[in-house]
Amino acid sequence: MKTIVVLGAGYAGLRVVRELVDHKANAKIVLINKNSYHYESTQLHEVAIGSKSPNDISLNIRDVIGNQVDFIEDEVVKIDRQNKKVELKSKSTVSYDYLVTCLGFESETFGIKGADEFGLPIIDIDTALVAKKHLEETLARFQSSHDENDLHIAVCGAGFTSIEYIGELLHRLPDFVKRFNLPAEKIKIYCIEAAPKVLPMFDPKLVDYAVNYLKNQGVEFYTETPITEVKKGAVISKDKAFNANTIIWTTGVKGSHVINDSGYTQKRNRVAVQNDLSSSDDPNEFIIGDVSAVPSPDGRFYPTTGQISVAQATLAASNIIAKLNNQKTSPFTYHSLGTVCSLGPTNGVAELSFMGHWKLKGHKVAPLKRIVNDRTVFELVGFKAMMSSK
Ligand code: NAD
Repeated sequence: MKTIVVLGAGYAGLRVVRELVDHKANAKIVLINKNSYHYESTQLHEVAIGSKSPNDISLNIRDVIGNQVDFIEDEVVKIDRQNKKVELKSKSTVSYDYLVTCLGFESETFGIKGADEFGLPIIDIDTALVAKKHLEETLARFQSSHDENDLHIAVCGAGFTSIEYIGELLHRLPDFVKRFNLPAEKIKIYCIEAAPKVLPMFDPKLVDYAVNYLKNQGVEFYTETPITEVKKGAVISKDKAFNANTIIWTTGVKGSHVINDSGYTQKRNRVAVQNDLSSSDDPNEFIIGDVSAVPSPDGRFYPTTGQISVAQATLAASNIIAKLNNQKTSPFTYHSLGTVCSLGPTNGVAELSFMGHWKLKGHKVAPLKRIVNDRTVFELVGFKAMMSSK
């Protein structure tokens, strides 16, 4: 019997496993992940603010994959493609006939000096908890330090994660003011973005709405302000310095370092794949999610989102089953259902593409993200697991 090894239990990995099991793939299925749990990466900002606990956004992998899948809790160190083996941190190796590589993303610092040392990324449960602890301790310290920089928060970048983080932060600010006895008028939130636009993937009217909503609550936006250095207590852009003792580093992501360590031809740890999602070096390896660059009909690559990862996972699983049955693989096609960006728990902007094209803003958008998240979890693991994740 052939062995299919799936690397990573993010949205893509769990979906591949689910599809292989549901379609009764005639193969041994092995899932390898460094943690025993899967987390909802689109909700990490809520853990970073303290609105949600890690348990609220996590699922126990063993509980959801069933007993037809072998689960190995270990960290992938390298993929030895020559010998079709995966090397793990525990020094053990796992051989495969088919491989699905979906090891997810890491924070991108673009080599900016000090970003690793002084910036707080929000890329997994551990980093979200570090950011939460740092924010709370820094705000609490103001009572004894009287250093106004303890009340300044610099958010680097103005993409999804930055804006969703700021929205959630504003929602919780009254609690922090009360809990740590803070002078609310002295709190500053800077959002510093290199590009001319905030949230460039949205219609300009929706962007104006989001920016004005946040500005009206005191957020200061600085666009066309590329960050060139991060120091202890300061973000530097050319000749300007933003003093802040909490620096949130959300300037984008790259794929897992395992890609580079394994010698793939890659750009920002993303490997350009064939249109059936297989590697150009090995037709039996499928590379999906944030470690892949999938060609789209417009000649560019698809963006990396949870929704696209799930669609890629569905096709990768069906292409492996086709290969097991000596059938032809199919190319990746994708129709976006749309995009939702929350502005705290009660507001947001969204562009949806089903039964027409909808541009939505305000309170009516708030439940949409919950619905999108619940739908993703539902599709990944089924209703029982979704109810137990609440
Ligand atoms: P992003 O790429 O969406 O945004 C990063 C922003 O940082 C960009 O606007 C970029 O111009 C800016 N930037 C980069 N370097 C900079 C510099 N030196 N100085 C100032 N600004 C700089 O990245 P993200 O927000 O971290 O999100 C990561 C991924 O996760 C994206 O693919 C995103 O689509 C996805 N995501 C989706 C959702 C959602 O669907 N609701 C939520 C969170 C994340």
